[in-house]
Order: sequence, then C-alpha cells, then structure tokens
Amino acid sequence: MIDFSSDGGLQQSPDQAGQDVEILKSGLHILNYAFSNEALYEGILSVLTKIVPFSDAAILMPTGDGGLETAVTHAGRLMLRVASPKGAFARAVAGEAIIAPDLRELDGWAEAAEGSTAAFASALIVPLESLDEPALIVCVHAEPAFTENHLRALRTFAPIAAQAVQWAKQREALERHRDHLEELVRDRTLELAEQKERLAQALEKELELNGLQRQFVSMVCHEFRTPLAIIDGVAQRVSRRHATLTPERLLGSVDKIRTGVVRLTDLIESMLDAARLEAGSLKFEPRPCCLGPMIDEVCVGIRELNPKHEIVTEVTGLPDDFPADIKLMRQVMSNLVGNAVKYSPEGTHVWVRGSVIGDGDVVIAVQDDGVGIPESDLGRLFDRFFRASTSTGIVGTGIGLHLVRSLVDLHGGEVGVTSKVGEGSTFTVSLPRRRSDQPGMEPDALIGNAA
Ligand code: ADP
Repeated sequence: MIDFSSDGGLQQSPDQAGQDVEILKSGLHILNYAFSNEALYEGILSVLTKIVPFSDAAILMPTGDGGLETAVTHAGRLMLRVASPKGAFARAVAGEAIIAPDLRELDGWAEAAEGSTAAFASALIVPLESLDEPALIVCVHAEPAFTENHLRALRTFAPIAAQAVQWAKQREALERHRDHLEELVRDRTLELAEQKERLAQALEKELELNGLQRQFVSMVCHEFRTPLAIIDGVAQRVSRRHATLTPERLLGSVDKIRTGVVRLTDLIESMLDAARLEAGSLKFEPRPCCLGPMIDEVCVGIRELNPKHEIVTEVTGLPDDFPADIKLMRQVMSNLVGNAVKYSPEGTHVWVRGSVIGDGDVVIAVQDDGVGIPESDLGRLFDRFFRASTSTGIVGTGIGLHLVRSLVDLHGGEVGVTSKVGEGSTFTVSLPRRRSDQPGMEPDALIGNAA
C-alpha cells in the first residue's frame, strides 16, 4: 500500500506493484474530470499531491510551431514557453523522463522558465505518453529533492493523465467545431433571410414598375392624341373657313398648330433620350459652352407657346466657356421651364436665374408660383414615371424629371427641389466646373453658343 500519511508524498514501500495499482486507481478517477480543463487539472493535482511532494506543477503542450507552452499550471508561477525544445526539454519530448535534483544544472531550464527558476530547487519532467509532445512537470521549492521513487510513481501516473488531457482536448475541439457549425448555420440563415428580403423587394419594385409602365403607355397615348387632336381640329377649321378668316385669326390658328407640334417634338425627344439613357447609348460630349444664351433661347420658345405666363430670365452672369453638353443641358432646361409653366396657372411668373459660385461652379434655379408638390411626394419625384398627386388633370408622363436628374448626373452635378403646395416650387441644378485638362475641354472646342 502507498503511504500518503507523511508530508513527503509517496513513501518507499517494499511492494512497488501495489503502489502502482494504487496510483492507477486514483489516476483512473481523474478521467471523470475530463469534461472541463479546470476540473481536469484539479483532478490531476489531487492525484499528484498523493504521489510527489511539489510546490508547482504544469503540463507543457505543443504550440503548433514546434514549441512547448504551459497549458495549465498550478500556482501560475511556471511560465514556460520553449520555442524549440533543447537540452532537457528535448529529451523529455523525445520520451525520456528526467529527474533534476538541482534545477540550475538542468540544461535549457533557465531560458524557458523566464526567471521563475530561482523559486524552485528541483524538478521532475515526465513525458505524457500518447500525446504528441507534451510533458508533465512538477517542481519543488526546497529540499527534500525528488527521488527515483517519485519519478517512478509519476511515470506510472503519466499515461492516465495523458489520456485525460487527450479527451479534454478532443472535447474542446468538438465544442469549437460545434460552435463553428452553429455560427455557420446562424450566418447562413441570416443570409437566406436577407436574400429573401431582397427578392421580395425586387419583386415588389418590378410589379410597381409594371403598373407604372402600363400607366405610362396609356398616358403617352393620351399625350400624343391631345396635340394631334388640337392640330387636326385647328387645321379643319382653317380649311373650312379660310375664305373668311382674318390674318390675325389665321396667325392664331397657326400658333396653335405650332404649339401642338412643339409639344409632340418635345415629347418624342424626351422619350428618345430616356430610351438612349436606358440603353446606355446616350452620348455625353461636354465642351466649353455658353449656358446663358441657350437658356434664353429655351425660354423664348416656351414663352411663344405660353404667352399668358411671364417668364423672367436672369442668366447674364453665366460664363461663356462652361464645360457641359449643350444639347443635354437644353433638354434639362426645357423640361424644368416647361414644367414650371405647365404646373402654374396662367398669368403667373416663372423665374429662371443662373449664377456662378465657389470655384466657378454654376447654379441654375427655376422658380414658379404653381400648384406645388406635397412633401410626401418629394422623395420619389425623380423616379421614372412618378407623378405627384398635385398633377391630377395636367397631362404628363413622369419621365421628364427622371431624365433631368440622369442628365445632370452625367455632368457630375445635382438637382434639388423645394416646394409648398399652393405656393410654388423651385428646382435647382448645380453643375461643377470640370478641370480644363479633361478631354474635350480645350478652349478651341468652344461650341454651342445657343445657336
Ligand atoms: P410630367 O410629364 O408628369 O410633367 P415630370 O417627370 O416632368 O413628368 O415630372 C414629374 C412630376 O413632378 C409631375 O408629374 C408633377 O407632379 C411634378 N412636377 C414637376 N415639376 C413641377 C412643378 N414645377 N410644379 C409642380 N409639380 C411639378
């Protein structure tokens, strides 16, 4: 039998086989502790205290880069990390149990123990069989130093400790794997939910767009029919009464026909540009150009067709070499001024103002006293086919502003709107002055003086 009574740990006994059986019996007990690292180490310590007198104990584990590291320590003083095991550690790793009555003579200990050696007098290092490279170390502060008998007892215990550590490691790996799987499932579920949400949104948008497109087609038909009916009606009247018509009335009829033709032309132009934009075939050719005269020209055209509106332009301050695509900017201005007139009662004013700010950037504002736009509609105003609730009874297709924003985007600019129902709206286009070293911006490429 092993005598655990004295404080010296295991005592010499004539029946070493009996001791071993006793050690194995208490050792087997610790396999039950393998469910957590702390519990396992507690178990190992409780057996160690019965086998050897020690002040500190540790299990060295492989680090993965060829070194060894203390995985668990007793009092936390053994700070061992052996980069590549040398001397005594290399021997222990290779399977040799080492008894070191005087630690100062233990080869490689001093560097590995990082200064904690001073506290210990001697050590036992025992390979934990069945694990890759770990070793069990116990140290004692003072005499009595470890004996061969202690070493033998520890070697008997080592395989069981190794098995328990192995199990604990496997359990840990399993837990990590389970956590990883759980994480994967969580991520995937989240991903699927997001995908579902995106699909639902896309479907909703598609359905909405389908509805808007149908609405658009019927509106376009109406838009085409109205000016055509006006043109036809006026032409018929002129044809019937041409003999009696005064020159003034004849001129009035011609004006009405022109209004209808211009409306049709604008509509076709907008639709073509929108289609080109959609197909990615719209040409953007910025050149230094005179924006002021172009805006004046657009306003003259609209004024001619809407003589009861007062269109006031203040655009003389605009530069005559502003880099822009004059054709596209004409489309922008004719949409904005056209809308300002269309959504305002006759007899009201429309102001078109242009100014230069900052480093030469241009701001153009179109302001009217018209029906205005509800705040709740402002966010969708530039969406394709969208029409505000205040447009009821006024013909339109909902593509003009979408086109305006896309064209201003091409210029690297921004378009904004402020509005109040019943009071009017102001649309503001801000265009940045591009660098003159950009292609197509050379001064000799000056074109489009609103001619
Ligand atoms: P539309 O052909 O309907 O005029 P737009 O794309 O040009 O299409 O304009 C979209 C909507 O924005 C219009 O239907 C109208 O409700 C609103 N809107 C645009 N400009 C004005 C304005 N100056 N005053 C009031 N509402 C406007």
